[in-house]
Amino acid sequence: MGKTLQAAQLRRTVAEVIAAAGSSKEEAQTVADNLVLANLSGHDSHGVGMVPRYIDAVLEGGLKPNSAIAVKLDGGSLLALDGQRGYGQVVGAQAMALGMERAQQTGSCVMALANAHHLGRIGHFAEMAVARGLVSIHFVNVQSRPVVAPFGGGDGRYGTNPFCVGVPMEGREPFVLDFATSRVAQGKMRVAHNEGRRVEPGYLIDEKGQPTTDPGVVVVPQPGGMFGALLAFGEHKGYGMAVACELLGGALTGSGTWHRPADNQRSVINGMFTVLVDPRKLGTQNEFAREALAFADWLKQSPAAPGSDGVLLAGEPERAARVKREREGIDVDDTTWTEIVAAGAKVGARIA
Ligand code: NAD
Repeated sequence: MGKTLQAAQLRRTVAEVIAAAGSSKEEAQTVADNLVLANLSGHDSHGVGMVPRYIDAVLEGGLKPNSAIAVKLDGGSLLALDGQRGYGQVVGAQAMALGMERAQQTGSCVMALANAHHLGRIGHFAEMAVARGLVSIHFVNVQSRPVVAPFGGGDGRYGTNPFCVGVPMEGREPFVLDFATSRVAQGKMRVAHNEGRRVEPGYLIDEKGQPTTDPGVVVVPQPGGMFGALLAFGEHKGYGMAVACELLGGALTGSGTWHRPADNQRSVINGMFTVLVDPRKLGTQNEFAREALAFADWLKQSPAAPGSDGVLLAGEPERAARVKREREGIDVDDTTWTEIVAAGAKVGARIA
């Protein structure tokens, strides 16, 4: 069930709700464009389904519309920025614009961004950088609810801490690897729960630390107000990477790490540690271009495994989804749509 909407229509609806919650028209449009692009890219977890949460966060005061980055330190190729709890779609783009400018001037930039509200798909920022020919590496922590269990642990202690790397490929589409360090993104559990689906074994433990396939354990409070937890991808390796995201994205940026029980706040605060490199300034540009393409070709020549359509490079699934969804529209399930309409009503936007 649910409905299928064209991207343009969804952008208008989301922009209307975000603007009604106090954002300038421009900010509302930026947020709407970003969320709909996530849906188009096949990541419904980071698309328009986030709107109700954003509206609640604005109403609670944890997300501050019309904020801009504050520069805490400008050391040339070292930047420390504060997102001041503004929309991540806006302050994240502002931070990237500054960081990319520096990387193009000096060859590299290390950028620490603290206190951005939800940055959405981190790949969005890597895509900005590779479009300018820059390599872009991102370690991000999430302060919203401790929803991922540490390897060997039995309850949630940290967020879905995404990692992302974008690499430009001369004359070709870029490599954009962008994933949560949990086995699956929390938002995908929300989508599965809203659709009434079970998920694969190995993704989740319930509030007692027992394995479960019910995504509701991390979406709605369980008996006693407790939540279950997501597991890390790749056992100790994904867990270790998530800790790196917390140490770099949370501690080194000054954004803060998670070390307290869940507090029901609706805001989602991201800290993002970014490294940008301009390969044209590193002196290896020719080798880089040649070797990167040769390696990609080599991978693609691997025979398709049984049941597989062949080898893909990160970034390809998102681009393919965009082509398909631009054409066929975006499916929005009934629960998500009802929640968006209700969120609009809270701030006086009447969505049909
Ligand atoms: P995922 O598991 O779908 O993995 C996506 C990555 O894997 C992409 O880079 C994709 O191109 C690549 N990929 C997918 N299939 C492939 C294949 N067959 N071969 C090669 N590469 C392939 O992603 P996820 O973990 O569900 O994360 C989804 C999104 O959630 C990401 O954009 C992430 O940034 C975002 N996220 C954001 C936050 C936040 O707080 N802002 C937190 C967690 C996740």
